[in-house]
Amino acid sequence: MARASIIDGKAFAATLVDRVARATDDLIADHGIKPGLAVVIVGEDPASQIYVRNKGETTARAGMRSDTHRLPDTTTQADLLALVRSLNADPGIHGILVQLPLPAQIDAAAVLGAIDPDKDVDGFHVVNAGRLAVGLPGLVPCTPLGSALLLKDRLGDLSGLHAVIVGRSNIVGKPMAQLLLAENCTVTVAHSRSRDLPALCRSADILVAAVGRPEMIRGDWIKPGATVIDVGINRVPSADPVKAAEGKTRVVGDVAFAEAAAVAGAITPVPGGVGPMTIACLLANTYVAACRANGLEPSSFDA
Ligand code: NDP
Repeated sequence: MARASIIDGKAFAATLVDRVARATDDLIADHGIKPGLAVVIVGEDPASQIYVRNKGETTARAGMRSDTHRLPDTTTQADLLALVRSLNADPGIHGILVQLPLPAQIDAAAVLGAIDPDKDVDGFHVVNAGRLAVGLPGLVPCTPLGSALLLKDRLGDLSGLHAVIVGRSNIVGKPMAQLLLAENCTVTVAHSRSRDLPALCRSADILVAAVGRPEMIRGDWIKPGATVIDVGINRVPSADPVKAAEGKTRVVGDVAFAEAAAVAGAITPVPGGVGPMTIACLLANTYVAACRANGLEPSSFDA
């Protein structure tokens, strides 16, 4: 029986998109600056096509310029770098996002490294990773940024809470650790070599799961009353054996939701938790980049 309250990321993200849209209206009305986001997609990966379409629609809904560059999967690294350089130089474009994965002939690190850090709305550039680590203003990766906003909205002051983050990737785990350190949490980062992961998780007031393993984190790994943020997105066979046999799938997180909800104080569902926050934070980053490019102080979207 569930006791946790459900953290409705979909509703929170919709509110955040509305706030970004209002700030964008003001930026256009007061300064004649329309934030512009360029999304570059190379090849036909179906999941990437859906993400890119969603990003484009949400960006336009927020009143921003939305350009999508669709390149064939035979694109060379030189051609892609040339496009990135032209977007870096375009004053109407404030955010550049190169959708991953890229085809094998392209060195993704070289392409991401070529993006102007001040237009790097994914926050993946080493300059932005460095700024986050030393506490300078920069652009923060969208998924951990969205997760931190949900936590602050739910818990208020996070000072002194013990946060355990399972996963140490550059795009989720590490920036999440930096954000929670900046909020004065005591932070533990766990990974595949950590010893006694269940005990580590049970010591967490805040548990962030960013592992990529379906329902790995069980209910008895969770401290009663803890706040659980499930970043995982894993496609598994349908729970209905007939549908599974037809190849139907469903999406689950890295946390066994029903078990965890019986113990936790609050938990994000999958889908409908962290996922929607990622696009909302992409728009927030694009707005912030547009303000800074013009020497303006952006509105804060903090809780
Ligand atoms: P990565 O594969 O880059 O990193 C996974 C991390 O989990 C690694 O640090 C790895 O440890 C750790 N790990 C793997 N297995 C175990 C284990 N058995 N025990 C403990 N730790 C383990 O994944 P990402 O960070 O990119 O993504 C994580 C999840 O979040 C995925 O499900 C992904 O789909 C989802 N995601 C969701 C987003 C959203 O919008 N909601 C956006 C981005 C990602 P080690 O370093 O030792 O290998």
